[in-house]
Amino acid sequence: MRLRRRRSGLPVDGRAVVERHLAVWPRLTAEEQSRLLELADWLLSHKRWEAARGFELDDTVRVVVAAQAALLVLGLTTDHYRLVSGIIVHPSTLQTSGLQAGPVPGTVTADRLAVLGLAQSGRGPVAVAWDQALAGAHASERGHNVVLHEFAHKLDMLDGTIDGTPLLPREVRADWVRVCTEVYDDLVAGNPRPPMRWYGATNPGEFFAVATEVFFEQSQELAAFEPDLYDVLRRFYRQDPAAR
Ligand SMILES: [Zn+2]
Repeated sequence: MRLRRRRSGLPVDGRAVVERHLAVWPRLTAEEQSRLLELADWLLSHKRWEAARGFELDDTVRVVVAAQAALLVLGLTTDHYRLVSGIIVHPSTLQTSGLQAGPVPGTVTADRLAVLGLAQSGRGPVAVAWDQALAGAHASERGHNVVLHEFAHKLDMLDGTIDGTPLLPREVRADWVRVCTEVYDDLVAGNPRPPMRWYGATNPGEFFAVATEVFFEQSQELAAFEPDLYDVLRRFYRQDPAAR
């Protein structure tokens, strides 16, 4: 892995790259579009960007990943990414080796795991697979977005624990805990709660990351089938994607 010495922001054709690859772009207001570009520029110039395994980062790779991370915090602040030390882009599925957080909280496995992305705990980097990140930008697989998923984990860590509860405004907290607990417990009990995916029943941290993907990528279904869950996510993210 090689560090980029000069940290450059959004390239001159950055806006054109976002227009070409970000499916949600035409549905954003002009104000949201300029905010998204500002946030992407900030991420590109303030975070360390690395390529893994001989992969090369070109402007398209950096801009497409940064734009999706920017979308997540469109209604929040750059301070919400203070635990993101950098972004590592892999060409495809990441092979983890050695000790790795297992599928059950508190367990580890020495198996090599193939994953689409990782969010290291504490002040650490986010790693994503480029093929998945590109597919996510184009919304090719409904309800799936690896960049939103991994960056949501970083938001979850801001209060010191990955427990499915990010730093919430006080007026949202009670509703958040009540609604998320109800849906999570029901999923864990084996009852389908579409459009939530089963992976959300892995643990509360994965519940929040999956709920985030669904909130942005299947917003109308979530608002229709799980209006309370949609509502607490809307109040946290300060965005209303179903209205786009
Ligand atoms: Zn996850």
